[in-house]
Amino acid sequence: MRERDAFPQALPGAPPPVASGALVRADTLALLFAQSFYAPLQSLAIGGILCWTLWGRVTPIKLLTWLGVLAAATVMRLALYLLYFRAKPKGQALLAWELPYVVTLMLSLLTWGFGVLWLMPPDDAAGQFAILFILVVVVCGSMAIYSAHRGVTLSAMVVMLAPSTVWLLFQPGHMALGLAVSATTLMLGALRSTKVLSDTMQSQLRLSYELKQANAIADRMARTDELTGIANRRSFMELGEQTTRLCQRQAKSLSALLIDADRFKEINDTHGHSAGDAVLQHLSALLVQQFRAADVCARIGGEEFAVLLADTDAAAATAVAEKLRQAVASTPVPWRGQTLQLTVSVGVATHSGNLDTLLHMADTAMYEAKASGRNRVVCHLDA
Ligand code: GH3
Ligand code: MG
Ligand code: MG
Repeated sequence: MRERDAFPQALPGAPPPVASGALVRADTLALLFAQSFYAPLQSLAIGGILCWTLWGRVTPIKLLTWLGVLAAATVMRLALYLLYFRAKPKGQALLAWELPYVVTLMLSLLTWGFGVLWLMPPDDAAGQFAILFILVVVVCGSMAIYSAHRGVTLSAMVVMLAPSTVWLLFQPGHMALGLAVSATTLMLGALRSTKVLSDTMQSQLRLSYELKQANAIADRMARTDELTGIANRRSFMELGEQTTRLCQRQAKSLSALLIDADRFKEINDTHGHSAGDAVLQHLSALLVQQFRAADVCARIGGEEFAVLLADTDAAAATAVAEKLRQAVASTPVPWRGQTLQLTVSVGVATHSGNLDTLLHMADTAMYEAKASGRNRVVCHLDA
């Protein structure tokens, strides 16, 4: 890549349109990763507390096996978090992390949901109560931790709580039934509240994405000339300042071309304003064809165009200006079955100092070209 390609481009292409639904899903996943960063460790710590609580009531081998499975799931989840935060995925690339997230989370949820049933000591009400209490604590914590994602919140709650709830239903006595009904009430309540929370958050994310898109479009419109689609004067001045500073820093020459359509008013007067518009569009298309993406091309006035050529001396700038003049003169503009002849006068200047001086010099040269008969290139030599 040549060095001058590093100069700012006039109008970078519009970002490809991306379905907002996919981006909202990706943003939700990013939130989920950020929100649940400590969850695997918390789950393992509470698992340890559960084993300690049940020590003496449940065989050590059972407790340690269960804790081992939970630790394995925790290690997998932590490894996934580590890889995720190292990769720092953005936009739609985030969606590739959804399945690994759900799978590793599910391992941990199943260990809690079905594992605690396996630990449940028969004929030991206090032990059973301790397990159910700790399980409800973990479920409530999960509802807060995974609240960014309704599907995950509900899965966490159902996978962890449903096995014990069903088990309770088959236990004798009204106490077990009371506990089962309470757990079911909790699940039904969460079904509704998570919907409200998740709908609100999704619409906030969608709104912020649409706002960003609208800003990008407005910004692009503010820098684009509506008729020709190339950069406008404002964009030219902004990019021109950057290019000037870069050329000064790198001690490179900077040239400007001021291009003005000759006797353009006559085209308007003879063929109408829309013929004039077609000529301007034709001229800007020729400019885009002739110059490189790194050259700053813009329509800076009615029928005036400017091009900034970084790292280009007066001789090279005059040569490209002459090439453009010839291309314009030898390419008549097609217009409603006829062709319109067009010529341009071009002023060229080279100056490594400030942009206004450079443009003023090019303007002077352009007026010289007009005065000396039009359809020509005049180079203003820096005194
Ligand atoms: P010269 O060779 O001296 O440059 O003569 P000219 O006729 O090109 O220059 P003049 O400044 O007399 O006229 C420029 C015309 O350009 C006047 C204006 O109505 C017309 N013009 C400016 N903007 C537009 C536009 O967007 N579309 C069209 N069709 N005409 C435009
Ligand atoms: Mg003019
Ligand atoms: Mg003109």
